[in-house]
This record gives sequence, C-alpha cells and structure tokens, in this order.
Amino acid sequence: MGHVESSRISGTTQLLGVIGYPIAHSLSPVMHNAAIAQLGVDVAYVPFPVAPPDLAAAVAGLTAIGVQGFNVTIPHKQAIMPLLSDISNVAKAIGAVNTVWRTEQGWYGTNTDVAGFLAPLSAVPADWSQKTVVVLGNGGAARAVVAGCTQLGCAAVQVVGRDTAKLQAFWQSWQQSPLAVHLSVHLWDDLPKLLPNAGLVVNTTPIGMHPHDQESPLTSAQIDLLPSSAIVYDLIYTPRPTRLLQQAAPRLTLDGLEMLVQQGAAALQQWLHQPAPVDVMRAALLHHLSHLQESVE
Ligand code: NAP
Repeated sequence: MGHVESSRISGTTQLLGVIGYPIAHSLSPVMHNAAIAQLGVDVAYVPFPVAPPDLAAAVAGLTAIGVQGFNVTIPHKQAIMPLLSDISNVAKAIGAVNTVWRTEQGWYGTNTDVAGFLAPLSAVPADWSQKTVVVLGNGGAARAVVAGCTQLGCAAVQVVGRDTAKLQAFWQSWQQSPLAVHLSVHLWDDLPKLLPNAGLVVNTTPIGMHPHDQESPLTSAQIDLLPSSAIVYDLIYTPRPTRLLQQAAPRLTLDGLEMLVQQGAAALQQWLHQPAPVDVMRAALLHHLSHLQESVE
C-alpha cells in the first residue's frame, strides 16, 4: 500500500483523490500520501480510474460520498469543466482544470500547473520584463507556460509548433484573454531566427522523455544559437537531466520535477488549509522515480 498505512484509515478519514484514465501510473498518490503522513492529518488520497463515458456519474458519486477535493488528469481536464459550479480565471484561460474542491455551491475548479511552473523560476534572479520566451510545443502544458510567462511580465512569448492549423487555433484561443498579451506562434523552421534572442526556452513537448532519453527537441547547432545567459527549462522529469538540459549546460537549466511537486503542493494547500510539506513530497517522488528507473533498466 505504499505510504498509506491501512490501520490509519478509519470511519472519520476524509477522502481526496485523483480521477483519470488510465490512472495506475499517476505519481500524485505517492506525493500526496507522503505529505498526509507527514502532517498527521486524518486524510487519504486515492486514485480513481474513471473512463470517459462515466465522468459525470463519477463526479456525482464523489459528491455523494463526501470526497473533499480531487485532482483531474488526462483525459478529463477539459471535460470536467461543465460539471463544476465555478472555475478560476487561470483555469478558464488555460482551458483546463487539474484541481477541484468542494464549496457550498458545488465543485470549484482551478489549475495549479501555472503556480507549479512558476515556482522554480521565482527563485531565479532575472529581469523578466527583458526576457523573450521560446516555448517548444503547443499542447496542454504549453498553455500553462504561456499564462505563467505572461504573469511573470515577460517581454514576449513565442510558441513553436509543427502544425500550422493547431498553431493558429492556439493563438486564436488566447485572443480574448488577458493572460497572453505578447503571444506569437511560429513553425519549427523559424527557430534559427528566434533562438538568438531567447532569454528562456521551455520544452513542453515529450521529446526526450524516457525511454527516448537520447532524443532532444533541439539540435546541438540550435543550442549554440542561444545566448549564454538563456535559461533552459524542460518540463520532462524522467530522465533527470534530459538530453536537452545536458546540451544546454553550462547555461542555467531547470527540469520538470519541481513543477510536478509544486502543482501538487498548491493543490494540497487548498484542500487542507495549511502549508504543504514540499520537501517530503519532493523526496517521495524522487524515491519513487528512482525505483521506477531501476525497474526498467
Ligand atoms: P500534449 O498536450 O500532448 O502536448 C504535446 C505537444 O508536443 C504538442 O504540441 C505536440 O505537437 C508536441 N509534440 C509531440 N511530439 C512532437 C514531435 N515529435 N515533434 C514536435 N512536436 C511534438 O502534452 P502535455 O500535456 O502538454 O505534456 C507535454 C510534456 O510536458 C510531457 O512530456 C509531460 O510529461 C510534460 N509535463 C510536465 C509537467 C510537470 O509537472 N513537470 C506538467 C505537464 C506536462 P502537436 O500538437 O503538433 O501534436
């Protein structure tokens, strides 16, 4: 049972959880139950596999059985939205919800990926208003990155993708939003023009994720175009470091582990109304990931 001691669960235990499909590989139970054990609160965090046609019934069931809050992962991050009574502005802008809690009116949804993405950047001393950001990829995580970089006050955010129609739709979807002020979209062929002016590069594609450890979204020649002061941030957390981050050294590099930890910490803080033990959550994830790595090698 991992970190949950079954003897700890009683008639008074409050439930938190995560819905997704599949859900067996979710890292959230590891991180949250470690935090719950550390805090000594009477709470358990449970993974719930919910197939897409069952989403509305599952949410009604979570209401009925008194679940206090839950995370939402693939494929429900958009589909959950009409089932909630209210949604935060940041989740509306991103178009996805990953954290839900109970209110008197019904379920309230937000998205903690922006806070997670920003947490490691806030420790970097930088004048963000002078920095242009190049975002590789235009999927779900790229949306949190665009909102985060706008919140930081970055000079411009340039999103790079491989599909003109998807890029156009991405750009269009932000046009009514205050959370993407200086956004432009580009094809990968534009990178030689974009990289020499980049202050921050963020990889939001899965290129380089385990087991494709030797792949990188950028060639060595493209990396060489980056200023030495550029920060390179890869949202991938397995392997650590990715090929991209190895190539980018000695520039400042950040991997995706801290984003994962901090989006979880932000959710737990909402649910429990107390600070999350971030160090315990990070250690639990590292421990779990190192075992996963060993079991596939
Ligand atoms: P997603 O919605 O599927 O988006 C992936 C994006 O990558 C899409 O724009 C896709 O392009 C692009 N892409 C995929 N393969 C590509 C290739 N071979 N060449 C060029 N572009 C490619 O996925 P996501 O949810 O945004 O997640 C993306 C990555 O971020 C994953 O590795 C995930 O683990 C990581 N992530 C990390 C955290 C964290 O907490 N650290 C949080 C969220 C995501 P098309 O649109 O053209 O298909």
